[in-house]
This record gives sequence, structure tokens and C-alpha cells, in this order.
Amino acid sequence: MVSTVLSATMDGLKVEFVRVEADVSNGLPLLHMVGYLSAEVKDAGERVRTAIGNTGIRIPPKRIIINLSPATVKKRGASFDLPIAAAILTALGVIGEDALKDILLIGELNLEGKVLKVPGILPIVMEAQKKGCQTCMIPSENEMEGQVVQGINIIGVKHLQDVLDYVSHPAEFQKQHRGIHRAVRIKYGKEKQLDFCDIQGQEMLKRAVEVAVAGQHNLLLVGTPGSSKTMIAKRVPSILPPLTEEERIEISKIYSIMGLLKEDEPLVSTRPFRELHHTVTKTALVGGGMIPRPGEISLAHCGVLMMDELAEYPKNVLEVLRQPLEEHEIQIVRVRGAYVFPAEFFLVAAMNPCPCGYYPDMEKCRCTKSEVDHYLGKISQPFLSRIDICVEAPRVAYQDLKEQKTCDSSAAIRERVCAARNIQKARYQGKAFTTNSRIPESDIQTFCRLDEEGEKMMKLAYEKMNLTARTYYKVLRVARTIADLEGKTQIRCIHLSEALSYREMNHKYWES
Ligand SMILES: [Zn+2]
Repeated sequence: MVSTVLSATMDGLKVEFVRVEADVSNGLPLLHMVGYLSAEVKDAGERVRTAIGNTGIRIPPKRIIINLSPATVKKRGASFDLPIAAAILTALGVIGEDALKDILLIGELNLEGKVLKVPGILPIVMEAQKKGCQTCMIPSENEMEGQVVQGINIIGVKHLQDVLDYVSHPAEFQKQHRGIHRAVRIKYGKEKQLDFCDIQGQEMLKRAVEVAVAGQHNLLLVGTPGSSKTMIAKRVPSILPPLTEEERIEISKIYSIMGLLKEDEPLVSTRPFRELHHTVTKTALVGGGMIPRPGEISLAHCGVLMMDELAEYPKNVLEVLRQPLEEHEIQIVRVRGAYVFPAEFFLVAAMNPCPCGYYPDMEKCRCTKSEVDHYLGKISQPFLSRIDICVEAPRVAYQDLKEQKTCDSSAAIRERVCAARNIQKARYQGKAFTTNSRIPESDIQTFCRLDEEGEKMMKLAYEKMNLTARTYYKVLRVARTIADLEGKTQIRCIHLSEALSYREMNHKYWES
């Protein structure tokens, strides 16, 4: 008899439905698996056979053929164990012919028959619901993640025995387990965040961070060691606007595939803030591998990618960021086609101005001219032109440390950021973008119009500061954000001059 069980797998960010067929017939006893399988899936045969045995079911000495279709999709991972076991048990008549009809099964088995957690549950259950599937049977450790999706019945199983219990008395099984759900409360971990009010002085830097977050602009802080640039960068999460429901789902799908969702927090609740180390590989950064998987830039989707000690990163790692910084997604091309992963992040980077950290203070800097040039040269012009805001972090003034002025808390800054973001959202309603940094060049004239005086100032600056078309547009976008932070419709000279000041650094360090 041939039995069929529905399952699914991930290919990049795409869900592929898979049919698991089992055929049991008389003949030499064997278990054979076919259907474009990776090594892990081929191993499933022995694992599943042992798991079934340890659940107390004797497999008769027969010829068992397992087929996973469609044959065009490569099957990977251990998540087919459960559907394979279910298909065998159905073909053997242990499970009724129609008992698992319309149920999607997914889960790994260990030798004892325990069902283990698998990645990708959230996107798979979402697709199953869209496809009209009524029920998903998933590992109970993934149950909360599956429950996020509305309009589909989720059955969490801990052991292969649970599948048998379910099919013999579905209603009773669900009744018993519903009680368990109720007992589980979704917790949203509110970790104590670092706060901007801990940092004395450095008002210029804090202002630049506020503008950057308000308009989603890429930011580079350059400064001497001990200028609190890293401390400031690490406080960015405390002023990020909250996630929309749509963004939460989108991010959570990526985290689900990477197996990074917490069991008690089935949806990501705060904007990602991915702090990198300069030893990160190209693949870990942008994604890739034989089976393309998302990288750090996709884990930072809708949030922030933080790179401290920017000049310490290998040049090829920085250069690979250029495309996603521009296009907000990454394409990974493989023989079987192109994978596209989202990467709608903005960059917060920090670096010293030279190896010793004190350039251009020639009394303190111990580096030679060529050492400084080499160090700064690690950041290429094309990379710099993708930075919207570049500021210098001066050493903390003695006065600032002593005075203990009261400064804005993160909550106060965040409120201003959110107000500016709301203005942007309303202005760009119906457009494909929601923040100023994402205004396409074709729309700049509409949304970033300067007044007469502003035009004059811009013309002068364009020549004097050696702006390119790309940096010219960036200045206008930043000026738009500064005006929005003030609640002003018209961009004035004062907004423009602040935006221009965020490019001066570039001029001073890299073009002199
Ligand atoms: Zn130096």
C-alpha cells in the first residue's frame, strides 16, 4: 500500500511543499529512500526505523520504499523524520489511511522517538495556512512559533507516540493539550537597556545619532579612543522606533529559518541591533554558503548593523557591503538560481582616525603620514559615499565630565525620533519607501525642495566640498530629516548647513 504525508522545507526564504510517500510490499526486507536527497535526509531511514522500534512498534520484514517529491527540490535537514515515520506507519496500517490527510507534518526524531525542534516553522506554517492547509503537526518546542499564525490548527508533539495518540482520539488529544497552551504565557523579555543619559557631554555626537536614527541614515563616528563613540553607538537600540506588526513577522521569518527564535518569544519584539566583530567573514556578513543562508545584514533587517573599529575590517568585507547598502537586499547567485535576502538596515560604524587613534593631533599622534594614509585608505571613497552622516568625536572635555549636566534620556530622544518618523510615514503614504534616506533620486525634487537661500548655499557647497551626485542627494535627504525633527515642512538654510556639516569630516580626513 502507498501512503502520502504532506511536509515542507525551506529553500532560501522560500517555502517548498514536499510529499512524502511510503510503499510497503513483500520482497527482500529493506528501507530505501529516493527523491533528490542530501546526506542528512538519506540518514533518516535508520533513525526513523529505530525511533519507530523504540515506540514499541515492530516493523515487519518487508520492502519499504520512501519517495520525497517533487524531485526538483533538494531535500535537506532532519525535519522530514516525522513525516517519513508517519508515512511508514500509515503504509503499514498502524495509522488509518485518512487519519493524516490535510495535515502538514514536520519534525526531527531522535532514536528514542522524541520529536526535536526544527528551524523555519514560522514561514512554513504561514505558507501552509495560505495554501488552505487545516492543520500542522510540529515539534512541541516550536509550538508557540506556530501558534503565531492565525487560522490554522497547530498540534505540538513531543514524541512519535503523540502522533499515534492524536490519530486514535484527535478531539481528546487536542482538548488535553489546549490546557497546556493556556498555561503558557508569551513573555516579552524587557532587558535593561543602556541609556543616553549615562553619557556626559558629546552633544554633537548624540545629535548626529538622533538625526541618523530619525531618517534611517548610515552613520560613521570617527574619534580618538575614549571619546565615548562606542558607548554612544551601543545606545542606539534605546532610541529605535517600535516595530510594526508587519516588520515583526518579516524579521521573525528570517530568525526562524536561522533557528534563532526563542521558545518563549515566538516573534522578534525589538528592532535588530547586530554588533559585528572585524573577524566576520564575507559569508557570515552577507549570507551565502552551498545552501544559501541569510547573513548578518539580513539578521539586521529593519534594524541596525553596528561595526566598531571599521578600519580593522578586511577591505573585501567592506566592499561586499556596498551593494546591499544601496539596494537594501542581497542577491546570492547559485547554479540553481538566484536567492534574494532582505537587508533593509542602516549602518552605525565607528573608527579611530589612525592606528594610534590621535590623528590629527600631531602632538600626540605617533603615526607616520603613510601609516595614517594607509589606515584611512582602508575605507574607500565609494564606501564613504554611502555614509550619510560622518561626525568627529572629540575627546570628552574636562568641563563636561565635571559639570554633570542633566542630559536627555533615551526615552526623550526616542520620542523625537518617533515623531519625525511619523511625519515621514504620513508624507510617503502610498510610496514604496517610508523614511527620508530611502527617497529615490527621482523624488528628491518633490520632497527635498530648497528655498532660494538654500539653493544658493547648496550651489556654493557643491563646488567647495567637491560633492558628487550621490553625496549631493544624501545631503538633501539628511536636511529633510533635520527639518522633520523640527516639525518644519520647508527645509531652511539652518537645516541644510547642519546636513552639510556631516560631510565635512569626509573632506577633512579623506580628501586632504
Ligand atoms: Zn596616530
